[in-house]
Amino acid sequence: MMNNAKLIIVSAPSGCGKGTILSEVFKNRDVFYSISCTTRKPRDIDIEEVTYHFISKEEFEKLIAEGGFLEYAKYADNYYGTPRAAAEKNLAEGKDVVLEIETQGAFQVKEKMPDSVSIFILPPSIKELDRRLHKRDTETDEVIVKRVSQAAGEIERAQRYDYVIMNDHLEDAIRDFELILSSVKNNDNQADKFKAENMKEIIEEVLRNA
Ligand code: 5GP
Repeated sequence: MMNNAKLIIVSAPSGCGKGTILSEVFKNRDVFYSISCTTRKPRDIDIEEVTYHFISKEEFEKLIAEGGFLEYAKYADNYYGTPRAAAEKNLAEGKDVVLEIETQGAFQVKEKMPDSVSIFILPPSIKELDRRLHKRDTETDEVIVKRVSQAAGEIERAQRYDYVIMNDHLEDAIRDFELILSSVKNNDNQADKFKAENMKEIIEEVLRNA
């Protein structure tokens, strides 16, 4: 890549407060926020073309066959994928691109584009994640059980990201995230304490507090 545009991959188990952190962090930044395609049913809070492109399984599989996705994955029985064209166009034009995707997709992108930066947001504990999902009240108990067990698996994979932060207190998480972005842009070591290898004990503690 000839320009300095960065592809930023963000993953976090659902119910982690990721949406709030990202909208704060990117509010005043000139980035392209990729809108994924999904086969999941819209929730009340979803807005077509804003939160996702909601498409059928048939349409999704057609796009896979056409090579229309930069990455895609099956998660909790639904497909999710990043449209390739818009992300590539923005990077080529020098704009940073943000992907909010789960772990399988994150690793696919990281492999294809090693210059990308991957960031994982941890919940304070699995117990807290369960509490937040119940409080949000957008899913049935059965779906919550599925998402919590999926989250534990994802947290184990946090170790393979470039950076890991914890969303214990929102203001801290926002500050930490911004530090990582500026460090990546300036190519310095200001955010090294959030490198995954330095967050190992914290990741293990979150898993222990299941
Ligand atoms: P939700 O159903 O809660 O909106 O999303 C479920 C999971 O799918 C979240 O972890 C979210 O980040 C992830 N996700 C959303 N869009 C994509 C995508 O385009 N690709 C992949 N691999 N995961 C996605």
